[in-house]
Amino acid sequence: MTDRASVDWLEAMTHYVARALSSAKSEADVARLVSDLSRRSDTQIEAILARAQGLPLPVCTKGCAYCCHQSVEVLPTEAINIAHNIRTKLAADALAHTREKLAKLDERTRNMGTRARAAARLPCALLVGNLCSIYEARPLSCRSVYSFDADKCRKSFTARRPESVIVDYFGPAKEITRAYASLLKFGAQEAGLSAHGLRLAAALRVALGSPEAAERWLVGADPFKATRFRM
Ligand code: SF4
Repeated sequence: MTDRASVDWLEAMTHYVARALSSAKSEADVARLVSDLSRRSDTQIEAILARAQGLPLPVCTKGCAYCCHQSVEVLPTEAINIAHNIRTKLAADALAHTREKLAKLDERTRNMGTRARAAARLPCALLVGNLCSIYEARPLSCRSVYSFDADKCRKSFTARRPESVIVDYFGPAKEITRAYASLLKFGAQEAGLSAHGLRLAAALRVALGSPEAAERWLVGADPFKATRFRM
């Protein structure tokens, strides 16, 4: 895309997101929108990877979860989508167990900055047997991670200062997911809704507390205020 075409696309898509959120009434409506944008983001990344013949390819594989032991920032729309996914898929006892894990992780990590959080090596509360239990609904920040070197991921995971190990990630995936996150953020702002980055576990506790959290957010309240992300 040319620069002009990219700007036009961003503007048109931001209006599209704002309109969808303005007419959304429920958690399910928000989940449909986020799933649609997440799929579009994945499709664009896969198309670039498919064209990258002869070049080094990302090495991420199922069951490798080094990157699932650090802070994850989500937008309110994404927290609502994940909560919807968990609520509609899990039986009552599994849902209660997930909420318990989220509460424990949130309480343990809420005052940690991103460096301390990575150094603590605590798994995401949604990681089950080294697999993401909400893989199809995972946030864009998780969808952006394609590593070229699993050994560096392991070294970063085990280092005393994880930030001292530089892991090479697939740049286009970062760019594309960032563009879709901007659509969700600016679309929400255009619709008059709060759109701060949130701490995943804390935001999910709120969103899973009641489907009404999404409905309150959709009418301009900010039930996620206490869960804002800090570096
Ligand atoms: S949401 Fe899924 S992919 Fe993201 S950190 Fe948690 S377990 Fe990993």
